Amino acid sequence: MELIFEISKPGRSAVSITASDVPAVNIEDTIGNKYLRSDLDLPEVAEIDLIRHYTNLSRRNFGVDLGFYPLGSCTMKYNPKVNENVAAFPGFTGLHPYADAEFAQGNLQLMYEMQKYLCGIFGMAEFTLQPAAGAHGELTGVMMIKKYFEKKGQKRRVILIPDAAHGTNPASGALCGFDTVELRSNSEGGVDIEHLQSLMTEDVAALMLTNPNTLGLFERNIEKVAAIVHGKDGLLYGDGANANAFLGKTRPGDLGFDVIQLNLHKTFSTPHGGGGPGSGPVGVGKTLVDFLPVPRIVKTGDKYNWSEKFPDTIGRMRSFYGNFNVVVKAYTYIRSLGAEGLKHATEMAVLNANYIKEKLKPYFDLPYDRVCMHECVFSGNRQVVQSGVHTSDIAKRLIDFGYHPPTIYFPLIVHEAIMIEPTETESKETLDAFCEAMIAIAAEAKENPDGVKNAPLTTPVSRLDEVLAARKPDVCWKRTN
Ligand SMILES: *Cc1c(COP(=O)(O)O)cnc(C)c1O
Repeated sequence: MELIFEISKPGRSAVSITASDVPAVNIEDTIGNKYLRSDLDLPEVAEIDLIRHYTNLSRRNFGVDLGFYPLGSCTMKYNPKVNENVAAFPGFTGLHPYADAEFAQGNLQLMYEMQKYLCGIFGMAEFTLQPAAGAHGELTGVMMIKKYFEKKGQKRRVILIPDAAHGTNPASGALCGFDTVELRSNSEGGVDIEHLQSLMTEDVAALMLTNPNTLGLFERNIEKVAAIVHGKDGLLYGDGANANAFLGKTRPGDLGFDVIQLNLHKTFSTPHGGGGPGSGPVGVGKTLVDFLPVPRIVKTGDKYNWSEKFPDTIGRMRSFYGNFNVVVKAYTYIRSLGAEGLKHATEMAVLNANYIKEKLKPYFDLPYDRVCMHECVFSGNRQVVQSGVHTSDIAKRLIDFGYHPPTIYFPLIVHEAIMIEPTETESKETLDAFCEAMIAIAAEAKENPDGVKNAPLTTPVSRLDEVLAARKPDVCWKRTN
């Protein structure tokens, strides 16, 4: 495909501007010539060519509105269009971020109610909507944990993190100056209780636990885990990125979590990908309420306001009030589904993941063979041994079948991991068609391994140097003629 610069022809334009009927002003007399540029190399194209160029470009992209997108641990949920409609209301988009609370009552009310809904759904005492993403929420949570122990006059140096955890967990701990220590998983994919007991000392500030974890498995011993951590006066941090697996079923607050971050862009259907914007609200139990970021929304009588009067706060985590527009979309999702709807979404997400797990089990290794939650994790080990076809080859071949590949090589504790998360919105027909594609690829891997190793065959470019593209992205076009 040609670049927009390459289709440029001097003199072409996508707009026609009528002749000016005001007297010309001499630039030199006003702002000066030094701001005049003669070297601006902008493409010159007609409107139709411009439209075709960008429409064609957009068709090279893959999104959740285009096809099945089973990326695990990321929850590429369908984004209901009503969310977008509501988020576009002028009252939400037109408000100046510096407007006085008096003029922002409706917006404050929405945030206040959103916090209350999240408290109810997750069993926490209070929520903040400030953090801009899951990882940012983790940082917020760990900063509160740090301040909590400082206030108690205790110097705890360690945060425990299971080996199945998302990489952002140790990063958040380390950013706050903690030593992060790895906690082993047991043979059924849960916390190794004996290992936890041996690591849990009074030097441990918190255990950061993802539940269900990144294997898509619910921690069966969660109450025991909480008791061990609390037994040494440590805190239990919940990575709630996978909260779409238990809405209306259980509440982290009831399970013993002291603090939890959510990912609205995973659990509550707000758009996700391309770097955001996301939203990572953080909920806390009573022990950590005083440390929440400011400003906080307070309600006095019928009036909403901002307040900074919380002396133990960790301070501000985000300019303005977080990604407000994302919150509006998640709020709309919660209001349009209601309690029963959210629970149903969770049930369907779990059912769909188990359906795929059972259908593909004969064809791929399943290292943890038990009922899964919202996602299932296979291993491509059998295919490697059989014919040298790797998980990355299977993922590339899926593109030829019209699917976005699942998450691969994560979690790290599964060799050649293939992590599939269908989400609740996919029909049985879609799941069946995807499984048939996976089964066909498993057969190809046996009979024609080179075909799989050379995939994808249907895309404009095939195998890129992904490391080079990520480390040294070359996105600038320079004129060569
Ligand atoms: C996605 C994810 C995160 C990080 O969330 P971001 O919004 O991408 O920063 C953390 N933990 C788990 C388990 C996740 O799946």
